[in-house]
Amino acid sequence: MSNQLSNYVNGQWSRGAAGDFADIINPANGERLAEVPLGNGETVTAVIEAAAAAFPDWRRTPPEERIQYLFKLKQILEDNIEGIARLVTQENGKTVAEARAEIRRGIENVEVACGIPMMMQGYNLEDVARGVDEFMIRQPLGVVAAITPFNFPIMIPFWFFPYAIACGNTFILKPSERVPLAITHVFELMEELNLPPGVLNLVHGAKPAVDTLLEHKSVRAISFVGSTPVARYIYARGAEFGKRVQCQGGAKNHAVVLPDADMEMATQIISDSAFGCAGQRCLAVSVAVTVGEAQRTFRDAITDAAGSLKVGYGLDEAMQMGPVITPESKSRVENLIAQGEREGAKVLLDGRAAKIPDFAGGNFIKPTILDDVSPTGELSDTEIFGPVLSLVHAADVDEAIEILSRSSYGNAASIFTQSGAAARKFRYEADAGNIGINIGVAAPMAYFPFSGWKDSFLGVLHGQGRDAVEFYTDKKVVIERWFKEWTRKF
Ligand code: NAD
Repeated sequence: MSNQLSNYVNGQWSRGAAGDFADIINPANGERLAEVPLGNGETVTAVIEAAAAAFPDWRRTPPEERIQYLFKLKQILEDNIEGIARLVTQENGKTVAEARAEIRRGIENVEVACGIPMMMQGYNLEDVARGVDEFMIRQPLGVVAAITPFNFPIMIPFWFFPYAIACGNTFILKPSERVPLAITHVFELMEELNLPPGVLNLVHGAKPAVDTLLEHKSVRAISFVGSTPVARYIYARGAEFGKRVQCQGGAKNHAVVLPDADMEMATQIISDSAFGCAGQRCLAVSVAVTVGEAQRTFRDAITDAAGSLKVGYGLDEAMQMGPVITPESKSRVENLIAQGEREGAKVLLDGRAAKIPDFAGGNFIKPTILDDVSPTGELSDTEIFGPVLSLVHAADVDEAIEILSRSSYGNAASIFTQSGAAARKFRYEADAGNIGINIGVAAPMAYFPFSGWKDSFLGVLHGQGRDAVEFYTDKKVVIERWFKEWTRKF
């Protein structure tokens, strides 16, 4: 891969119009990996025009033919998982095992989108009146685009484009400018598919690139995943320009631990959830709400488990947690830990000032546990997005549900218990869109919607599965009548 990344437009690699570049930095050691173009209106307009020109032929390509590209894509990804995973680790910092796992979740979406000839079907009824028949047909929208975040450089683009192109749309991806390497490599690998030029395009960039996508009349739909303030901006701006928009935002996920939980399993699972991917996962548990006697047992067990995690460079297979994405992110997380202390929390495990031998240039924070976090303090509703677990205590399940319901976010919530009645109550009442019962990362499979709620999602139709088919198609209703019986003889 050359040192300066290119865009993939109309089946060609191109640098685009001259503009600024940003460095892509390995968060584990500060090494400069490459440069990414920051995009500009002219470049992005050319991409949109290429995608629009490719649309008429692509929508006429039978769905059965369109999915043949996806069957090939699955095999290409399977054959190259290791190389892609290593790039994800280098640019994002997560461990190589975590990188492999996210690619697998991406592949799962390719597999589900192969079912489009069934999933895209409409419905019909004969004789809605005498001799009149009615049909609902789904048609693709045209050019659609996705804007994705840094924390899952591969999986998140795959929540969108396999469905979009299988439904007959042409697609533009604007990946995070902080982690564009692995997905650019995937686009290089996808050249082998020989998709018609313009069907699948990649454009690098930051806000100006996004603004052009939001404002251009040929872009029909926008999918966004990232922080809530940007989600709000994109949702409002996209709507202003008449687009269909789905925006997944930030999160602050709670796990409720009841005294009857299998404490060993709950500890292990919550530790993996809170500290996996260095806490930079929108489904990470970031608050554990202990109920009754669980307070003491869980607090001691989680502090031991978190303290024993091996932190270091993710390419070393022995490591269990990598760095956070940037030095700014590291200082932001450390400042939030200090804020928690100021608001009365006790730091049971302090990951600040982490020293990782040979990786002094990395953005490392070790697992951190804050106990007795004030439920009314500012930190309790702030997304930390780092390896920090807050502990709060509730007298009973009702109070625990009340605590999580106060959060402005609603991405996910979990309960750990052996009581079916408590689990049902939680499933029924918890104010979040993805619920885990004895599960730490309630990540929906590709054939279910990724159902964030509240400030974690703006829109109606979610990513993945049937919602993706609804999002990427327009419904057309045809009512049909013929005046004479068919009598002609051949
Ligand atoms: P971010 O909001 O900074 O960036 C996301 C994307 O938006 C990037 O492609 C970026 O280039 C673009 N962008 C940034 N600022 C913009 C602006 N002002 N105008 C237009 N575009 C802009 O998010 P991030 O830091 O890359 O990712 C972390 C966030 O994503 C966290 O808040 C996390 O919770 C969230 N996230 C949510 C989900 C979910 O499913 N709800 C999944 C993953 C990540």
